Amino acid sequence: MKVPFLDLSLQHKAIREEALAALAATYDATRFCLGKDVEDFEKNFSAALGYPRALGMNSGTSPLLAASHCGGFGPGDEVIVPTFTFISSAWGVSHAGATPRFADIEEGTFNLDPEKIEAAITPKTKGIVVVHLFGQPARMDEIMAVAKKHNLFVVEDCAQAVGARYKGAPVGVIGDAGTFSFYPTKNLGGCGEGGAFVSRRDDVFENARLLRVHGSARRYYHDIVGFNFRMDGFQGALLNIKLPRLAAWNARRQAIAQRYIAEIKLADVILPQTVDYGASVYHQFTIRHPRRDALREHLAKREVGTDLIYPVALHQQACYAHLGQKAGSLPVAEKASATCVSLPIFPELTDEQVGHVIESVNAF
Ligand SMILES: *Cc1c(COP(=O)(O)O)cnc(C)c1O
Repeated sequence: MKVPFLDLSLQHKAIREEALAALAATYDATRFCLGKDVEDFEKNFSAALGYPRALGMNSGTSPLLAASHCGGFGPGDEVIVPTFTFISSAWGVSHAGATPRFADIEEGTFNLDPEKIEAAITPKTKGIVVVHLFGQPARMDEIMAVAKKHNLFVVEDCAQAVGARYKGAPVGVIGDAGTFSFYPTKNLGGCGEGGAFVSRRDDVFENARLLRVHGSARRYYHDIVGFNFRMDGFQGALLNIKLPRLAAWNARRQAIAQRYIAEIKLADVILPQTVDYGASVYHQFTIRHPRRDALREHLAKREVGTDLIYPVALHQQACYAHLGQKAGSLPVAEKASATCVSLPIFPELTDEQVGHVIESVNAF
């Protein structure tokens, strides 16, 4: 039995007619940049997930850049970023001219360890980028307590956590700014690049709104130096079709994860930890095993697709070598990158396929 790591065609086949009709309407009305589809999406997204409001943007990286500017990050500032995440979590900090200071993660959840944040703080620290990695909310109460104590601006990178809740509250509006990605492989994916920005703070939200469209509230009048971060109309149109299905898709991911957790029995395997303060929306299901490469080969022979997410921590990337955070300095993340392997987890997997993944892992 074949179990691909991810097959986006199934989801898109299932909604094809509805999606193409929506895209055709956008095409016919030439609503190509922002416009009604995006405005509707911003309203629908906020209403469905519990945000006060949202801004559609053109990727998940753009709102991270906007958030860094909203936080006033700049030259001479340090911003704490988990070292085990997608690289983009650090781009906003770097492009604002500040320096990422990479911090280690917790063993169980792969998320920032609040105690290690405290240890990484210096007089230059201006903010924290929290990542809710693999769909699992980070320990926001502890993180916000550290932030409050040191007056830090908190960005929540929710690219993998759309629909996730922390103690009942939607992620992204606990800190000062929240960011989402609608890259096609994410839990809510567009038909191209897309993202969103949320904030509970009016000043931050209005600043991001200006940054999104060339620093301007009125055409050809530019209050601040801005960007072009506009979401395109096709993304809004497709995301409006997909949004009502997100809760069911996330629930299916959770059901698959529960089966993996209950039924994977393999010596030395570490499964992702479940926590009592929130439920993961399982963008990834990442396990760890000391013989990860051999396990992957074994799974490939049984036609089970896997991926390495992530094989190299950020402090060990060539682009950040100049920061001098040496090998061995962030051991939990380094060990995670050496032992992690992600299993297939997408809503369209059949129960038989999930069973085949479990049997194949257990047979290793
Ligand atoms: C996908 C992702 C991003 C960036 O999103 P893009 O839409 O690809 O720009 C940022 N952070 C994390 C954790 C991601 O997984």
